[in-house]
Amino acid sequence: MRLCRFNSDRLGVVEGDRVFDVTEALRILPSVSYPLPRVDPLIANLDRVIVRIKQLLPAASSHALGEVRLLSPIANPGKLVAAPVNYRKHLDEARADAEIHHDNQVGEIQRVGLFLKAASSLIGAGQAVALRHADRRNDHEIELAVVIGKAGSRILRKDAWGHIAGYCIGLDMTVRGPEERSMRKSIDTYSVLGPWMVTADEIANPGQLDFWLTVNGELRQKANTRDLVIGIPELIEFASAFYTLHEGDVLFTGTPEGVGPVKPGDVIMAHIEGVGTMRVDVKAG
Ligand code: MN
Repeated sequence: MRLCRFNSDRLGVVEGDRVFDVTEALRILPSVSYPLPRVDPLIANLDRVIVRIKQLLPAASSHALGEVRLLSPIANPGKLVAAPVNYRKHLDEARADAEIHHDNQVGEIQRVGLFLKAASSLIGAGQAVALRHADRRNDHEIELAVVIGKAGSRILRKDAWGHIAGYCIGLDMTVRGPEERSMRKSIDTYSVLGPWMVTADEIANPGQLDFWLTVNGELRQKANTRDLVIGIPELIEFASAFYTLHEGDVLFTGTPEGVGPVKPGDVIMAHIEGVGTMRVDVKAG
């Protein structure tokens, strides 16, 4: 199932080029009060929401996909965990290009570990990336994004698949410079998730997906998730050795070679096999 959030926080199911409005299914979510739980409530109750969605779908009204504004399919992630340099050829290009590394040491992921992007940086495909620091290089990074569906700590790689709710396309937008990654990659709008979340049952082999990114029609990045240095189950094991992963946390798995600059007015198209294609506009911040 392809689940999206659209317009004014409507819940949708995407089938073909239609979005079916199943917002009514959100009524089964438990009411919460202070202090709020550290989960995304939709993902924490996903099985029950899907049961309700299936009841609602036959009579649901629909919109043309092209006429809705897509928001991040995950509304309230507790954290965005991200893998740096998790494709070998991107490690090579980052080390070779001073405009990318800025005298930061670009180490192997096994040694430097993961980093966090602020949840406040998150937008959906229908909201533009708003560039700050326009005098500096601002790059696109396309990544397979994994949504955690079952909480866990010290998850073993053999158990990791059972902790995944679904997959999205992630854009880990980045201003290049000397600062820590968590600062340069957490600017408002610099984490894009979309166009929807495909539930895990629909992707037979997430470790073998073609994906690509274009800017104004020019191909910039093209790769396959089989070239990940640390694969999806190993990333979940690695991350959860440090952080408890909660329902709705998102794992950005890393970008391949071909990262490059964008400027206001550019149009990014991003595609991941089995997930979909999304258009993201770039504007001045
Ligand atoms: Mn990245």
